[in-house]
Amino acid sequence: MKRAYLRHLPVALFIVVLALAPLCVSEFSVTLLDYIGLSALVALGLVLLTGVGGLTSFGQAAFVGLGAYTTAYLSTAHGVSPWLALCAGLLITLFVALALGLITLRLSGHFLPLGTIAWGISLYFLFGNIEWLGGHTGISGIPVLDFFGIELKSPQQFYYLIWMVVMGAMLATRNLLDSREGRAIRALKGGTLMAEAMGVNTPRSKIVIFTIAALFACISGWLYAHLQRFVNPTPFSLAQGIEYLFMAVIGGVANVWGALLGAGLITLLKQWLQDWLPQLLGQSGNFEVIVFGVLMIVMLQRARDGLWPIILGWWPQRPASRATFAGAALARRQPPVAGTLLLEVKDASKRFGGLVANNRMNLCVSSGEVMALIGPNGAGKSTLFNAISGVDPVSSGEVHFLGEAVQALGAREIARRGMSRTFQHVRLLPTMSVLENVAIGAHMRGRKNFLHAAFRTERAEEASLLHEAALQIERCGLGGHENDAAGSLPLGKQRLVEIARALAADPSLLLLDEPAAGLRYLEKQTLAALLRRLRAEGMGILLVEHDMDFVMGLADRVVVMEFGEKLAEGRPEEVQRNPAVLEAYLGGVA
Ligand code: ADP
Ligand code: MG
Repeated sequence: MKRAYLRHLPVALFIVVLALAPLCVSEFSVTLLDYIGLSALVALGLVLLTGVGGLTSFGQAAFVGLGAYTTAYLSTAHGVSPWLALCAGLLITLFVALALGLITLRLSGHFLPLGTIAWGISLYFLFGNIEWLGGHTGISGIPVLDFFGIELKSPQQFYYLIWMVVMGAMLATRNLLDSREGRAIRALKGGTLMAEAMGVNTPRSKIVIFTIAALFACISGWLYAHLQRFVNPTPFSLAQGIEYLFMAVIGGVANVWGALLGAGLITLLKQWLQDWLPQLLGQSGNFEVIVFGVLMIVMLQRARDGLWPIILGWWPQRPASRATFAGAALARRQPPVAGTLLLEVKDASKRFGGLVANNRMNLCVSSGEVMALIGPNGAGKSTLFNAISGVDPVSSGEVHFLGEAVQALGAREIARRGMSRTFQHVRLLPTMSVLENVAIGAHMRGRKNFLHAAFRTERAEEASLLHEAALQIERCGLGGHENDAAGSLPLGKQRLVEIARALAADPSLLLLDEPAAGLRYLEKQTLAALLRRLRAEGMGILLVEHDMDFVMGLADRVVVMEFGEKLAEGRPEEVQRNPAVLEAYLGGVA
């Protein structure tokens, strides 16, 4: 209880200081604080989009412009109430963000930032060249904002509205990140492959954060227009878009407080430099841009994650609270009757250019069966796993899962049907806790969306998901590691985390790619016992493994691969006696 108080103390203090600030400082300082708040709102969107989601946008200023121009135009030319104009602005921004997102978010690597630059510039010139938007002169005479009967005329009056919005947006963003949808968003940065294999709709997650970031920017623009009561295109240029990104990077791209810190620092620094540099250099000009550039280079060299993590480091580290995982049990899939044919691979071939990695492979797995797939390195085992799970589909041939042809479906669709997998090269999110990593596996078993998350109306479901994750962690022998960062565990244990994550999906068929590699003897024993238990519960297991003792003691049947082809198939003792296998796999050792 006492610890919980201490945990919230800094935030409580901050809010008190924030509330009292306008009473204690000059009007000029309050104006500055207003602008910090407006920038923080845009930077917050970038924390979500760039810091957490890994999608870089230089074009946020254009969305600020959309919000500002919509209200400026509607309220001056048509006498629309600013609040109605806000709704219109949000709708327009929603529409534009969805359209731009659907086009640009498909772009990968540096094409995405380039795309954002392109539309950032386009919208800017649009504002400047449309006559009824006032061209480069802009629109003046924007009405005062009326807040429940109070006219917000002065920066002081505006201050409370701005900061209420900023604090609300920060809270909603933090809530969102700490949820099922939030985990899916945080998984984007590690590449979409794993997330899709866990049933996450990654294009949707990208669109969601892109749209939220745009809407935050739009609200900032709307506030700006009514604070300034005048708009022209200049503040919505690409240069300003870069500055917003700069704020997020300086503050700390992966934390909501980083947005605040970055916006504060850059706004104050800019003000200060604009005052002092011309005096120092004896001539006027935008010299602060040079200083910002140098600062950016230093930051990227010295503190990639921004300043916020450094400040956090000064704070006495509190021990990670052991979250309570008391939620109702999740509904489970109806398990298939023992002996049901789960997986049937028919003549599956996979070519990488001229290389035939899988050549007309056939195999099947039934429920309540452990099938081992063995063969020397490069035989094509992982390739076949990727083909079966839809991560990298077959070039020809068919894959049937529970009687349905699934070779044309994506990984997400196949995962939904009850197939789950681990990866040979572990794909965890190293900075996230073991609990959160495993909870990603249970993603498909939750229904509540990002709006529920932002307003915390999904807590019961979230508790159930975490409860399920904790159960699977315990089951895989990792109890006590729930709050450890996944990347801090030894590789063998990370493989167990992957198994727990796959199990959290409640699969009928489990695909394990070298699960015992890096495990110690006792850990292997525990894993074998777990797999036997799963088999007894009716799960089908397809397993790639190099440890022959492990495989032979566990598998019901074995398929041996070499050069992409099936060399032999049978019960372990049959395969071990097969001369072709001995020749190929054991190098002819009798
Ligand atoms: P195994 O898992 O049995 O060790 P893999 O399935 O990983 O073997 O690889 C089979 C062959 O396919 C290897 O020769 C490998 O180099 C090749 N291969 C695997 N993935 C790709 C890829 N994405 N592009 C090109 N070649 C690949
Ligand atoms: Mg492999």
